[in-house]
Amino acid sequence: MGSEPTERGASGDSPPAVELDGVTKRYAETAAVDDVSLQVREGEFFTLVGPSGCGKTTTLRLIAGFEEPTAGTVRFFGESVAGVPPEDRDVGVVFQNYALFPHMSVGENVAYGLNFADPPEGMSREARIAELLDLVDLPDAADREPDSLSGGQQQRVAMARALAPGPDLLLLDEPMSALDAQLRERLRVQVRRIQSELGITTVYVTHDQEEALAISDRVAVMRDGAPEQIASPQAVYREPTSRFVAEFVGDNNVFAGRVTGIEEWDTAANGDRIAAVDIGGETLRVAVDEGTDATPGDRLTFCVRPEYLRIDGGESRVRATVASAEFLGETTRITLDWGGRDLLVRARDPLSGEVLVGFDPADAHVIGVDKA
Ligand code: ATP
Repeated sequence: MGSEPTERGASGDSPPAVELDGVTKRYAETAAVDDVSLQVREGEFFTLVGPSGCGKTTTLRLIAGFEEPTAGTVRFFGESVAGVPPEDRDVGVVFQNYALFPHMSVGENVAYGLNFADPPEGMSREARIAELLDLVDLPDAADREPDSLSGGQQQRVAMARALAPGPDLLLLDEPMSALDAQLRERLRVQVRRIQSELGITTVYVTHDQEEALAISDRVAVMRDGAPEQIASPQAVYREPTSRFVAEFVGDNNVFAGRVTGIEEWDTAANGDRIAAVDIGGETLRVAVDEGTDATPGDRLTFCVRPEYLRIDGGESRVRATVASAEFLGETTRITLDWGGRDLLVRARDPLSGEVLVGFDPADAHVIGVDKA
């Protein structure tokens, strides 16, 4: 595992709000975080997403100062924070399980966050608490007991408490994972609104790739202790740089096969070409951009999102059989069997039996080429 992808200089002249520079954290034989270099820009909503055990929480704890790296440096605004304890790092942290004090009112919980800092000049503590509760959309909750609030409301109180000292950085570790799906969707809109209103640099941890796409400016998709791709949600979804990212983020169809020919493409203005790729004896046609070095004999890996596979449509058509269907409301998610391979398709109407399914070359995304 190396330090790719690194992002030196990504933020222009001003130093990044948070920088990890070759950071490793080992527990005995396990490298929970393995030589990670990444930068979070000031004001950015940056999300660490990945499967269980990939090192998200450990990365967040290294930023918060609950852990010190085994190797490498964590910097805030260009300054190393090595040896600086969490309470002196100007970070607000929100955990998965609200961690509100049950015997204190909501207002007292928020005031607890203020204990470590004075309210802004000329503002009373009461006014500051009211301001924070307004911010999280709970203006009348100061006298309520935490237990009388819903999970989503409690998590907003936890955010108000974390934000009370006016930290430079907000760190959120799976804050919505204890909530049901509908509440999560509502709360993520509120979290993003609060973050935008304050313009506070935020690092967010989730295992939920849909949440990561919905809420973030940029996403680091992590695997085995290091990011595999760091990019905008759109780029991570549309242009995954590895098979792992292609399959972790949303539904996808990933193919790998031998290139049998490269053709000029009349309709492409940007120098794209078409690769004919042999998959199990059938030829699929895939657009290959100018920068990709693909020649006959190479092994090409590419993906096509289910929404781009069309029944009775597209250029590269294959015959497949409906294996299963899940009705999801606005669409039906259908698994087709194509010579022993699964193909995922979205359809509005139910399907059965044998179908022709295809895609346009431009709707395929090349993940990588192994030279012959
Ligand atoms: P999850 O989504 O399940 O919380 P994660 O991506 O946040 O996972 P981490 O909690 O950062 O992953 O853990 C990364 C790896 O490091 C795991 O293999 C974990 O078992 C290990 N690990 C984390 N903390 C410790 C610790 N204090 N002692 C030993 N091993 C640890």
